[in-house]
Amino acid sequence: MNGARTWLTHVTGAVRGRHYPFVLCYHGVGSVAAADDPQGIFLSIELFERHLDTIAAQNYELLSVSELWRAIAHQPGPAGKGAITFDDGLTQTTRNAIPMVLERGWACSLFVPTGLLGKRHPDAPTEWIASAAEVRELSDAGVEVGAHSVDHVDLTRLPHVQALEQMRRSRETLEDLLAKPVKTMAYPFGAVTPRLMEAAEEAGYEVACACSGAGPWLARCLPREPVFASSSPLRLRIKMAGLYGPAYALAGARSALRHRATRVGP
Ligand SMILES: [Zn+2]
Repeated sequence: MNGARTWLTHVTGAVRGRHYPFVLCYHGVGSVAAADDPQGIFLSIELFERHLDTIAAQNYELLSVSELWRAIAHQPGPAGKGAITFDDGLTQTTRNAIPMVLERGWACSLFVPTGLLGKRHPDAPTEWIASAAEVRELSDAGVEVGAHSVDHVDLTRLPHVQALEQMRRSRETLEDLLAKPVKTMAYPFGAVTPRLMEAAEEAGYEVACACSGAGPWLARCLPREPVFASSSPLRLRIKMAGLYGPAYALAGARSALRHRATRVGP
């Protein structure tokens, strides 16, 4: 009931032109063979450019995740502020997409698995992950770099001690590399449990990002909307407004109802 009420409030606010905060989660921006991208996580450069145009046309300002979190903590629901994040540090993304964001004078956040820098991505073998030197250059250029575990493993499947170690060690490695404090991370695959949220705090993170779509703004389970190759500018606007999950569920329910009507109707 609460979820429905929140959604209705969102719909009413969005119709009235309210600009809710959002966090988007991108992976790949560039080109990859369809067979090598079964989940459709690679966007073309052209589509990504249209996404940035859409965000600009809505008069949003893009901040890093930690800046956005501070703005939210200071004033719940700050208008006209959002963040885009990139998981895994794929070189096509770091070389294509991040410069496009920086050229517009915006910030962004990048989450990298520290044990895989300069190596092939374990789940996308045709793709490479940025090297330590590239990551340091991006950090020097103003990109917020956060951790994404050491080995890009599903932390929910590890014993607690190992999960904690993955989070702690990746933060320490990045701090050594970047010579600055690292206070943000993203859970690999967006997989998180309440226990992991506590572990993220214990490992020294102020903000830890999930991938759960819309939801309450929690420091160690920050909701992000995943973005796919199928995310048209219209879908992007729905995601930015925090309406995509409920709208998708509603569309599914309507289609199920239609299907039932065809089955039992005359
Ligand atoms: Zn990842």
